[in-house]
Amino acid sequence: MTGIEPEREEAAFPQLTKAQFARLSSFGTPETVEAGEVLYGPGDPTYDLIVIEDATVEIVQPATRDAPEESLVQFGPGAFLGELNLLTGQAVYLIARVVEDGRVHRIAPERFRRLMAEDPELSDILLEAFQARREILTHNGASRGLEIIGSAMDPASLALRTYAARRRLPHLWFDADSVAGHSLLKAASLTSDDLPAALLPDQALKRATPGELAETLGLTYRGDSGGSVDLAVVGAGPAGLAAAVYAASEGLNTVLLDGVGPGGQAAASSRIENYLGFPSGISGGELAERAETQALKFGARLSTPCEVVAINCDEHLNAVLDDGTEIPTRALMIATGARYRSLPLERWDELVGAGIFYAATELEARTCAGDPVTVIGGGNGAGQAALFLASCGCDVTVAIRRPEIESGMSQYLVDRLLASPKITVLGGTEVTRIEGEDVLESISLAGPAGETEQACRGLFCFIGAEPATGWLSGVALDEDGFVRTDVQLATDELGEIWSALGRGPLPFETSVPGVFAVGDVRHGSMKRVAAAVGEGASAVRSVHTAIGVHA
Ligand SMILES: Cc1cc2nc3c(=O)[nH]c(=O)nc-3n(C[C@H](O)[C@H](O)[C@H](O)COP(=O)(O)OP(=O)(O)OC[C@H]3O[C@@H](n4cnc5c(N)ncnc54)[C@H](O)[C@@H]3O)c2cc1C
Repeated sequence: MTGIEPEREEAAFPQLTKAQFARLSSFGTPETVEAGEVLYGPGDPTYDLIVIEDATVEIVQPATRDAPEESLVQFGPGAFLGELNLLTGQAVYLIARVVEDGRVHRIAPERFRRLMAEDPELSDILLEAFQARREILTHNGASRGLEIIGSAMDPASLALRTYAARRRLPHLWFDADSVAGHSLLKAASLTSDDLPAALLPDQALKRATPGELAETLGLTYRGDSGGSVDLAVVGAGPAGLAAAVYAASEGLNTVLLDGVGPGGQAAASSRIENYLGFPSGISGGELAERAETQALKFGARLSTPCEVVAINCDEHLNAVLDDGTEIPTRALMIATGARYRSLPLERWDELVGAGIFYAATELEARTCAGDPVTVIGGGNGAGQAALFLASCGCDVTVAIRRPEIESGMSQYLVDRLLASPKITVLGGTEVTRIEGEDVLESISLAGPAGETEQACRGLFCFIGAEPATGWLSGVALDEDGFVRTDVQLATDELGEIWSALGRGPLPFETSVPGVFAVGDVRHGSMKRVAAAVGEGASAVRSVHTAIGVHA
């Protein structure tokens, strides 16, 4: 395996000491294996962590439409198999085949979870190895196991690629208009009507959606966990991820559900500079990845895309999913944050993803690198986006409705924006028209000097967000739709159920007992990553009190 720095390669294939090997294998069941035997293979919903005593096992990328089977790596005595999908629950996509007879130790999923909880030293080694192996697999042949083919400026293709990126799925992207894209379309007997398509070794998903892909890969909610969970967290932005990390690490059986993928609004940020402990900043995507791994390590189960459409509290508390599945839970945490605002312009919805974007990460920037783009909004998100796009070679116009840029943005960003030769800031300016056939081509801006039309390949919209509470009923909201909690609740918002309970709402508890709200969705919240994380973590204490389990 190559294509990655030597330190990551080392982390991917650690040398265990004798004592570590003995501890690791003690969690498993010994088994004799023979050359040619397949220990696990594509499509298996789950697999065991396998520790090798004295056999040799190779990891093989199955044949795809455009390439034959390929051996990726061999593991010998003292090594262990497995990668990140042992934690994420993604179905097996590689083959583990025995090359030389010998003995191995199989650690079943529930024993694996115990190991991760009980042995911090081994847990750190395994976690590091799984992450490094996923990085390596993303850079080598394993990416061929999932090929996404579509059109670069097609919103449905962007949604699929965004999902694959957010869930860190090893995959290859093919633009259908490229030579490689054409030949793959032919090899898979697909037409342009089938796009976007997700090609797996044994099947092709035509007009694929993130939901279908997730279902096929085993990343949606699996009702096989049986019975009630302790906590269902709705929304995997910073607040929900923090709640899942703290709840799972304190022993609560926790599920984390998100309608899109982990990261929330933070995943749309190319660089967060005000999060404690990261003096040179961290991309929202990386912060979310780290938090996701941490939550999974402690045993939380993440399902995406998995939209919650209602809370049913007729008899017991249930999170209701969009396919009608109900997840019984002892407590529920609303961490659904906010959804981006749009402009009331003709053709806006058609061009979202085809030149209009609500995020400025590598993925969006690649579609318009070097071209003229416009960022609308006067907050920190807009400032970060403008700097990032300028660093990608774009000529950036920042259009702000207010006359002065200083009133809504941190001074450090204002200074950098004004100093950049690639950025033009226009105060008192609004977008009045958008033009383009299939993709955005130009926009009209109206400002103090009148109305002008200018070329624009990317319109990045950072004009704030509205609370994602349209799905909630029966929970007290403020006049703008944000969820009220604890001391914010008026006496007339608390029904008889509270008198029967004999207590008032706990910190972060809503008007419905056992239902909590944290982060941007909560009335009066600070609308920052650190604040959302703090709320998610703190609310877990109230969950313990409400369900009578003490950490
Ligand atoms: C571009 C940008 C840059 C930013 N930069 C910074 C910064 O530098 N520093 C800073 O402190 N803050 C920054 N912010 C603000 C920060 O990202 C938010 O305050 C923070 O993400 C809020 O976290 P949250 O978990 O409450 O909600 P969100 O991040 O909004 O996450 C909510 C999640 O809930 C999911 N969801 C919604 N409805 C449902 C449903 N019905 N079912 C299932 N899932 C659902 C969504 O898909 C989403 O993933 C930025 C925001 C943006 C947009």
